[in-house]
Amino acid sequence: MNRSTLTHLECGLTGEISPADELQNLSPKAQKPLLARYDLELAGKTLTSKELVGRRKDMWRYEEVLPVQDQNCVISLGEGMTPLLEAFRLGESIGCRNTFIKDESQNPTGSFKARGLSMAVSRAVELGAKELAVPSAGNAAGALSAYAARAGLPAHVFMPQDVPSVFRVECEIFGAQVTLIDGLITDCGKKVREGVEAHGWFDFSTLKEPYRIEGKKTMGYELAEQMAWRLPDVIIYPTGGGTGLIGMWKAFQEMDAMGLIDSHRPRMVTVQSSGCAPIVKAFEEGEQFATMWEGAATKADGLRVPAAVGDFLILNALRESEGTAVAVDDDDMLEDAKRMGEVTGVFPAPEGAACLTAQRKLIDEGWIQANETVVLFNTGTGLKYAHLW
Ligand SMILES: *Cc1c(COP(=O)(O)O)cnc(C)c1O
Repeated sequence: MNRSTLTHLECGLTGEISPADELQNLSPKAQKPLLARYDLELAGKTLTSKELVGRRKDMWRYEEVLPVQDQNCVISLGEGMTPLLEAFRLGESIGCRNTFIKDESQNPTGSFKARGLSMAVSRAVELGAKELAVPSAGNAAGALSAYAARAGLPAHVFMPQDVPSVFRVECEIFGAQVTLIDGLITDCGKKVREGVEAHGWFDFSTLKEPYRIEGKKTMGYELAEQMAWRLPDVIIYPTGGGTGLIGMWKAFQEMDAMGLIDSHRPRMVTVQSSGCAPIVKAFEEGEQFATMWEGAATKADGLRVPAAVGDFLILNALRESEGTAVAVDDDDMLEDAKRMGEVTGVFPAPEGAACLTAQRKLIDEGWIQANETVVLFNTGTGLKYAHLW
């Protein structure tokens, strides 16, 4: 049975409407991210807390608000429904007991990129894509390669040449064609665009295709479901392209429209590395868009994104939620990975550990109160970064 209530795509900046039944990248006129829209009145009739109880235990349980029409097109490795772990001892040690970790490291390929790429590859297969391509700082390439392998389609991935070898090996194991580029993820993006022009590849760059965000938004649905439909006070999210943060913010609006949650919203916090903090800078300066960060350098590969096409959507979510943006040093995040590991049993990626550094900073500043509920997103496994410690 097909329960998807997808209706159309809408430009995130101008509201310009595009049809949802063909392969699309950015909005045709404004060249900004397209957001999927649903018939939420219809969706709300069957997407209820009761109805969810018996459904499959992965991100595909929220069928009504997912874009895939034909369940035979779902390309899945079991992504989503990751645990929300209480981390009360960690919380107590830093003066904020009600601390939780949404442990995204337990996804296929060891990061939450699996959510976005499972969704995007499934929808692209449904709409007829034949060759898949992505520029990546590491984890997106691994996830695209895995889902392309599962779909039986060729994948072309482009990564900076200084990417840790584990990321390259992972893609090769999945049979992808790997190209290492002397440059940053933005330079890799250029190479993908050349392949799109020359060979008709489909470009899976973050927010340049409409459905990775639909996969990532399921983190927001899960969080609500796991917290009995009462969202936390603060969400701390390590932000590169910002897909997950934008996606969760979108999920909260959808859930509110369907009557699943009330109007209480978490304050959304972006954390970036001080070596690449374009969103933090734009937030502090009150800008609508971020400017390109020159000389981007951080060991947290997922945060090495000098320019994000969805910058204005990230900044909107931070401001609408009365959230904030924090830059932290690489050394502190590496130290905080150990602090987290010792008391929680979770070995976080440096990006995930950065959330703890940000939380400590915001507690010190009095921005987070001792009695508030805080969720940290551990977006990937530390195992892929073991060379850093
Ligand atoms: C990609 C990535 C991020 C950044 O995610 P966005 O949603 O693009 O902001 C954070 N952490 C890890 C481990 C990643 O792979």
